[in-house]
Amino acid sequence: MDNPPCIECGLCREVCPIFEVLRREHISPRGLAILAEEGIASPVFYQCTLCRACRTLCPVDHDPDGERLRARLVARGVETEANREMIANIRQHGNPFGPLEEGEIPKRLTCC
Ligand code: SF4
Ligand code: SF4
Repeated sequence: MDNPPCIECGLCREVCPIFEVLRREHISPRGLAILAEEGIASPVFYQCTLCRACRTLCPVDHDPDGERLRARLVARGVETEANREMIANIRQHGNPFGPLEEGEIPKRLTCC
């Protein structure tokens, strides 16, 4: 079934964890839906946690579809420096954090 288009009501902003913290419209579910509709390949799509809480309040059941949007970014070569670092660490060390001794807790958590 096709993903219903966002009608820009803004209800989803009430439950989005990234909007709760950052309070920036372009990183709200509504903002992301508008950027996606315009076909804009922006690294802000990596900020979405993929939780789909926004969908629980959405009157049209619009799906943020973050996995597909991220795949599109990767295909276009749009990545963050943190993404590149995590991928390099996984290839080289088998984990996203870098070199770790047995039982060592990472000093820095990498996120996009
Ligand atoms: S799926 Fe993304 S946009 Fe929707 S509520 Fe979760 S973090 Fe926000
Ligand atoms: S995603 Fe749904 S709830 Fe959010 S602004 Fe669009 S139509 Fe409204």
